[in-house]
Amino acid sequence: MRIRLNLECPRCGGPLFLKETRNSIDIACARCGLRVSWELSKAARRALRVIDGSLVFDWNSVIDELYIELAINAQ
Ligand SMILES: [Zn+2]
Repeated sequence: MRIRLNLECPRCGGPLFLKETRNSIDIACARCGLRVSWELSKAARRALRVIDGSLVFDWNSVIDELYIELAINAQ
């Protein structure tokens, strides 16, 4: 699965894509190749929340944290 994000690469301003594989989630720039990758188990630990008694996977917080890591790597 590959999804174009509505975020720009912090290094070059190119389009960022979210890719989910069997074991990982990564965000990569299609132009300069800047990339961060998390194991799915790590992402799940960060993203799972209990809302009204149900376990919810919060994608937004994962994307936010991946993007912050990407911005740090771009320095
Ligand atoms: Zn880039």
